[in-house]
Amino acid sequence: EAALDESFQTLMGWADENRDIGVRANADTPADARTALVFQAEGIGLARTEHMFFEADQLIAMREVIFANDPEGRSVALQALLPMQREMFVELFEVMDGRPVCIRLFDPPLHEFLPTDRSGLRDLAEALGLSLSTVTRRVEELGEYNPMLGMRGVRLGITVPEILDMQARAIFEAMLDAAGESEPVVPEIMIPLVSAKREVELVKTRIDAVAAAVRTERGRDFEYRLGVMVETPRAALRAEDIAQHCEFFSFGTNDLTQMTYGLSRDDAGRFMSPYVQQGVFPEDPFHTLDQEGVGELLRLGAERGRKARADLTLSVCGEHGGSPESIAFCRTIGMDYVSCSPFRVPVARLAAAQLAIRDKIE
Ligand code: PEP
Ligand code: MG
Repeated sequence: EAALDESFQTLMGWADENRDIGVRANADTPADARTALVFQAEGIGLARTEHMFFEADQLIAMREVIFANDPEGRSVALQALLPMQREMFVELFEVMDGRPVCIRLFDPPLHEFLPTDRSGLRDLAEALGLSLSTVTRRVEELGEYNPMLGMRGVRLGITVPEILDMQARAIFEAMLDAAGESEPVVPEIMIPLVSAKREVELVKTRIDAVAAAVRTERGRDFEYRLGVMVETPRAALRAEDIAQHCEFFSFGTNDLTQMTYGLSRDDAGRFMSPYVQQGVFPEDPFHTLDQEGVGELLRLGAERGRKARADLTLSVCGEHGGSPESIAFCRTIGMDYVSCSPFRVPVARLAAAQLAIRDKIE
C-alpha cells in the first residue's frame, strides 16, 4: 500500500509539474476540506454555506431570521448564529492553512427553510413568540410556486441583508482568529445567483461596511476578494458590467445548465433517458457540459468579463468542473482553475496535465 501510495504521489507530482490550470475542491465543512487536502487540492473553490444551517440548532435560528418581521428579532437570532458560523470558518481556514478559501454567501431555495408540518410550525411560533395562526399565514405568504427561481442566492441577501452582514463578519473574524499573530489569508467571498450589476454593488457596499467595522474593532488591516457566481444566462450576457465590481467569476454550471435549458435540475432525470436515446440530447447536460449551448455562455461570460478586467480570475465550480472534457473546454476559454468534489481532484489534476502535455507535443 505504501509503495502504491508513493507511485501515486510520484505520478501526481509529474502531473502537477505539467498542468497549467489549477484544481481546487468544493468543500463545505472542515471534514470535506481535510479530504480535499488528502487529494492535494490547491484550495477551496466553493464552500456552500447554507449546508451549515441544516444542523438542528442553526436551522431553528435561521428560520427565526427569515420569519422575523422586525429587524430587531432578526438581529437577536443572527447574534446566535454568528459564533457557530465563525467557528466553522475558523476550522476551515485552519485546515486549509493559508491556501485560498472561497466562501459562497447563503444560497438556499427558501422552501428548504420552511417548516412543513404542524410541529415545525408550532416550534417556530414558539421561537418567535407569535401565535400559530400568524406563523402559518407568514409561511404561506413566503411559499413560492418556483422556489428554484425565487428567493434564492443574492435575492435573499438583498431582501434580508442582515444575513450578509453576519456572514461577512463571521468570515473576517474567523480569518483573523485563524491567523493569530501571523499574516491573515485573503478570504474570497462569492455572491450566488447574480443577474445584475447593481446586486453586486449593493452586496459590496454592505460587506465593505462590515470589513471597516471589523478592522476598527480588531485594530488590524486586512483585505478580501469579492467574486460572483455566473449561473444565470443574464450574468454571462452582462459579464462586462458585472466584472467592474468584482475580482473573480466562478461559473456555476449546475444552475446555468438548468436556466439555459429551462429544465429543472431536480426533475430532469424523469425524461433524460428517452431524450438521450432519441438523440434530443447527445448526453445528460447535467453530467456532461453542453459545449454548444451552456459552453457558449461560459465563453461569452469569460470574454466579456475579461474585457472589463483583464486580470479577472475565472473558474468553474459546477459538477462539470471534475470531468476531463469540461476541463479541456474550460482551459481553451482561459479559465484559471476548476473546482470539483474532493474525490475527483486527482482525475482533474491528471486530465489537466494530459491536456498541457498534448499541447506541447502537437
Ligand atoms: C451551480 O449552480 O453550479 C453551483 C455550483 O451551485 P449549487 O450547485 O450549489 O447551486
Ligand atoms: Mg448554483
